[in-house]
Amino acid sequence: MGYNIAIDGPAGAGKSTIAKLAAKELSFIYVDTGAMYRAIALGLLKTGTDTSDENAVKRQLQDMSVSIKYVDGEQRVLLNGEDVSGLIRTEEVGNMASRTSAIPCVREKLLELQQTLAKEHDVVMDGRDIGTNILPNAELKIYLTASVDTRAERRYKELCEKGQSCDLEAIRNDITKRDDQDMHRAIAPLCQAKDAVYLDSSHMTIEEVVDRIMELRKAR
Ligand code: C5P
Repeated sequence: MGYNIAIDGPAGAGKSTIAKLAAKELSFIYVDTGAMYRAIALGLLKTGTDTSDENAVKRQLQDMSVSIKYVDGEQRVLLNGEDVSGLIRTEEVGNMASRTSAIPCVREKLLELQQTLAKEHDVVMDGRDIGTNILPNAELKIYLTASVDTRAERRYKELCEKGQSCDLEAIRNDITKRDDQDMHRAIAPLCQAKDAVYLDSSHMTIEEVVDRIMELRKAR
């Protein structure tokens, strides 16, 4: 059984940046479960699947395989053997992932992959339901959040730096909508596990959050 650190929280809270740095410092592997949901969303988009029809989604999932590999310590996500890590980082795929991750068969498909990784390796795994559902016995659980304005501004900056055209208000609306979908779905909604440490990063630097996680890990 690996040593498991679960980091959950809403979109744009900085989970992946922080989880990646924490994993590096601890020599653990970083598992980005959002990328897996995004890969499935991309597959459903590509095949034009009617996502309001759960049976149609189920049929498509039978022909879809999602796996991950590590290249120079970076997680890459594969859809049917193709590395789609670059293709999944769009707002369109993110929004589709938020909608389709509420479908039970989509969550079932990824559960085993995530639990097996955590069993076989020391991991920092981030997502929405890691502490509550996937790894209920994780040694350390963090609920990482920040105000909606802070998260929207961070995402806006990130997209601008990548040279993508973006609109702050549209990003803010997307984030609010995704929070609402992720927190209010019937299965595995985003919420803080009872034994998770709540961290609001609105007024913290990345280094401060990582240091806090290192302190918490030492204290366990
Ligand atoms: O974290 P990221 O923005 O890449 O996740 C995309 C979407 O995947 C989220 O909005 C959420 O709906 C879904 N997700 C999930 N459970 C996870 C990770 C992501 O439902 N463990």
